[in-house]
Amino acid sequence: MTELRFDNRVAVITGAGRGLGAAYARLLASRGAKIVVNDPGVSMGGDGGDAGPAQQVVDEIIAAGGTAIANTDSVATPEGGAAIVEAALKEYGSVDILIHNAGIVRRGPLKELSYEDFESVLDVHLRGGFHVVRAAFPRMCDARYGRIILTGSINGLYGNRDVVNYSVAKAGLIGLSNVAAIEGEEFNIKSNIILPGAVTRMAEGLDTSKFPPMDPELVAPAVAWMAHESCTLSGEMLVSIAGRMARAYAAETRGVHRPEWTIEDVAAEIEAICDTHAPLRFPPVPTGHLDHLRYSFEMASKN
Ligand code: NAD
Repeated sequence: MTELRFDNRVAVITGAGRGLGAAYARLLASRGAKIVVNDPGVSMGGDGGDAGPAQQVVDEIIAAGGTAIANTDSVATPEGGAAIVEAALKEYGSVDILIHNAGIVRRGPLKELSYEDFESVLDVHLRGGFHVVRAAFPRMCDARYGRIILTGSINGLYGNRDVVNYSVAKAGLIGLSNVAAIEGEEFNIKSNIILPGAVTRMAEGLDTSKFPPMDPELVAPAVAWMAHESCTLSGEMLVSIAGRMARAYAAETRGVHRPEWTIEDVAAEIEAICDTHAPLRFPPVPTGHLDHLRYSFEMASKN
């Protein structure tokens, strides 16, 4: 297969000073993309700031013959999101690829988590996603080209203890990606989600000694493919963890129709309602919402 390249493409990558984002930046730059390495260099919990991580990734890219600039604005505010996208437009004249990868973690059980810890995690992951997509999307529509990759997590699909803020934010990003995919379709904009797993500083405190190899570099090709012009997916989610790549998607059981329901009917039918035999799938693009309605209405009209 011919090498997939990104010559003349401009990629904005949030949180690219460390971990997964840095791996995406290095890979895309090595294939010709011009990169905005965004990262304010905050702590795991989102405190402080350090221009060093973003600059270090830029220095590495330039030393390897690539093209990149550093940006230290925060995705957590509308002004910060706009400034990150503006940095790409000012330096390189376009934003073809947007990878929202920035993230923080603040742990706490549901019965104790503070509103501040809830909001600050939503600000970076979920609102941060909106801030950069909102700024980049009109430009991509004008250019009739765009590739958006948002960072979900299996936490957003399955949840986990002590991270309700994170699980909520990651689940919310699926909605953002789906709408960008639907509204972007006519403009050749594709939007997808990566559900990554890698040993980064986010694994601090875990015993990773028995984990299989889980370097961020194992995840980067999936993200880079979704960032490429030949990407065929939109409104989809790819899992990449420890060398395993897979597709995650929403499905519905075929369901049961009755013209009227009592509570007792639900109790009597619950097994049939939940029967996962021959599940239904309504991909968001092009018409998942409508297909769901159509299927449900057809069931009603048949009975
Ligand atoms: P990381 O901590 O190494 O990198 C995250 C980067 O985001 C940091 O460099 C940080 O400074 C930056 N950041 C934080 N707040 C920011 C802000 N307001 N604006 C811009 N940048 C900001 O962590 P990672 O493991 O590389 O995580 C990258 C992404 O992948 C995150 O969204 C994370 O939730 C997600 N993720 C990671 C894993 C995993 O296994 N590592 C699993 C699921 C999801």
